[in-house]
Amino acid sequence: MSEIKSAHLTCALCGATSEQKVLVSENLIGNPYLDGRESIMDVGGLAASAQLCPCCGYAAQDISQPTTVSRACLQDEAYRTFSGLVFSSAVSKSYYRQYLLNLADPEAAYQAIIRTAWSCDDAGETENAQLCRKLALEQLEKQMEQAPDEEFLILLRAELLRRTGSFEQLVQDYCGTLLSNEFYQVILEFQLQKAAERDDGCYQLRAVAPM
Ligand SMILES: [Zn+2]
Repeated sequence: MSEIKSAHLTCALCGATSEQKVLVSENLIGNPYLDGRESIMDVGGLAASAQLCPCCGYAAQDISQPTTVSRACLQDEAYRTFSGLVFSSAVSKSYYRQYLLNLADPEAAYQAIIRTAWSCDDAGETENAQLCRKLALEQLEKQMEQAPDEEFLILLRAELLRRTGSFEQLVQDYCGTLLSNEFYQVILEFQLQKAAERDDGCYQLRAVAPM
């Protein structure tokens, strides 16, 4: 498990002080998931980058850091209401708001919304997790417009297509695709095989390549 502690932080936007979780040490031992979730992103590690100011509602990895976000952004309807979604965990709420604040930056938005999905997984909120993966796929595809041949992004897209049940799309787009990285090719073929089985389950890397 990652080690986290509580700290009193001052919100960069409203100046209020609140108790927040801060990462002390990362647990780097473990087996990553096919969607990029590393062991650092266990429940504790995930919570440490999901701060939420209880006073103004500002969400960030570290709410005390200077930011270009304005207080007006926090008044946005979607921001205030989480776009109408109901999240049970404060971690999910923070990451979803971080996603909304970073929509102009597809990579940052992707990182925030996939973490929202992981947090929903941890909370047992299957429908929210599914929706967040669809939003993550949108952000990933925006990144891929700039880097269509980036093989790691292709793997993440294959994973998200499968996890959101778009099995036919996955097969259509990647059947016959040859990646230059042999290990990535093995993972892609695993994704295609699981898609053929209509399996949208969560797998760790060791399911593909036992270590
Ligand atoms: Zn605040």
